[in-house]
Amino acid sequence: MPYDFDLFVIGGGSGGVRLARISAGHGARVAVAEERFWGGTCVNVGCVPKKIMVNAAEYGQWAEDAAAFGWKLKNHGHDWAKLAAARDAEVARLSGIYGKLLTGAGVTSFDARATFLDAHTLDVGGSRVTAERIVVATGGRISKLEIPGAEFGLVSDDLFTLKAMPRRVAVIGGGYIGLEFAGLLRGLGAEVDVFYRGELPLRGFDGDLRTAVVEAMKAQGIGMNSGVMPTRITRMQDHLMVSLTSNFMREVDAVFFCTGRVPNTAGLGLEQVGVTLGKNGAIAVDDDHATNIPHIFAIGDVTDRLNLTPMATAVGHALADTLYGNNPRRASYENVPTAVFTSPPIGTVGLSEEEAALRGPVDIYLTRFTPMRHTLSKREGRRSMMKLVVDQKTQRILGAHMLGEDAAEIMQGIGIAVVMGATKQDFDRTIGIHPTAAEEFVTLRTRTRVAGMQEAAE
Ligand SMILES: Cc1cc2nc3c(=O)[nH]c(=O)nc-3n(C[C@H](O)[C@H](O)[C@H](O)COP(=O)(O)OP(=O)(O)OC[C@H]3O[C@@H](n4cnc5c(N)ncnc54)[C@H](O)[C@@H]3O)c2cc1C
Repeated sequence: MPYDFDLFVIGGGSGGVRLARISAGHGARVAVAEERFWGGTCVNVGCVPKKIMVNAAEYGQWAEDAAAFGWKLKNHGHDWAKLAAARDAEVARLSGIYGKLLTGAGVTSFDARATFLDAHTLDVGGSRVTAERIVVATGGRISKLEIPGAEFGLVSDDLFTLKAMPRRVAVIGGGYIGLEFAGLLRGLGAEVDVFYRGELPLRGFDGDLRTAVVEAMKAQGIGMNSGVMPTRITRMQDHLMVSLTSNFMREVDAVFFCTGRVPNTAGLGLEQVGVTLGKNGAIAVDDDHATNIPHIFAIGDVTDRLNLTPMATAVGHALADTLYGNNPRRASYENVPTAVFTSPPIGTVGLSEEEAALRGPVDIYLTRFTPMRHTLSKREGRRSMMKLVVDQKTQRILGAHMLGEDAAEIMQGIGIAVVMGATKQDFDRTIGIHPTAAEEFVTLRTRTRVAGMQEAAE
């Protein structure tokens, strides 16, 4: 029986749009369903609007620091409504581009929710649609802590619809979104406290980075409350009261739950079709992103592997090339550079010292310094940290980590070197660009310490 489409993609986010567009370019008959917003989380309620707000917060600091460079600026405060309007216009422009990209590529798009009826048939906004192959690219959804009064708390989506900035904010969760939200709200003038379970935030990141970011955030005036979590939120007349595991209470105007995202698989009908789900409802896939049903695939956050936009698009592109482009290939999950847009930001690629040390002896090179801009501005908490984790035997760079001005921009280039297998000697023979912070990465001459098995032996 002929199918309506060769490929049906459920979800028009980062991964789904790329997959659909490239597959159509290879000649497949493709359709995509999107139930909420074209471009998905990243464009509408994630990377893009967040980064705009991070940029807004940075201007405030720069305006203050400008005095040290002779500028006589008068700060009349921040206009939240103006920023919100500019941000929303940019988001709408980009979301529109995503929609147009699909039409331009000859993809049929449905503004509707799609769910499985059987392994080749979907309900798309009330119509039955069949496809030879189906790809689930439904992303993640926000999960709140289940505590009494959780309904009074906000989630990341809500930051982008607030009409005014909350004056006092509690951020719950020490993941990257929590830290970024804390930083940008503080930068725009709010009083911010972060509450997180562990001793340090950013679980999974390099230990020195985690320590350095706490120092920087404290210097920015953010309360970093390790090992403290909320137990209850009570709505008072014009504010919220947060009860804490430390037995203290905190009076705030807003609580942001940045306590994680879970794969968006509920209600899709995957169980009827027999698709195997893993932890937290993530769709289990093989190295080619196929599920246990060979013609059903899953990509992006719904697989809960490395929940980043460039990863979802890379995997979507590789799958399109594999299925329809006569070019079987896989996107690598190794050495993926990533950033945390705190103030200052983090950029990182490869293994943390802790991960690398488990595999064998590593040389650690670490430096901390005040960037030139801040030797004049005297702004607290702007000390940069740069670190290389080097395999002692092969001298290959296993990990590069930075907290400091422009870390995200710098790390993209370092990422290429790490992906190519650069050694410490390759870094050493590269001439620095002077005067920059980035040149420190090629002038780290003295080993700071040894870690891993060797360390135990010494
Ligand atoms: C606040 C925040 C900040 C972030 N910042 C960054 C960052 O700086 N850098 C970075 O790389 N990543 C960032 N991310 C992560 C990034 O947004 C995701 O990794 C990325 O969007 C995943 O793409 P995806 O295609 O898997 O899913 P999504 O982009 O979430 O797209 C899934 C789409 O599927 C739709 N959908 C779901 N179910 C159905 C259905 N049944 N029928 C039809 N449509 C459906 C949804 O409406 C959604 O549009 C951030 C995320 C958040 C929340």
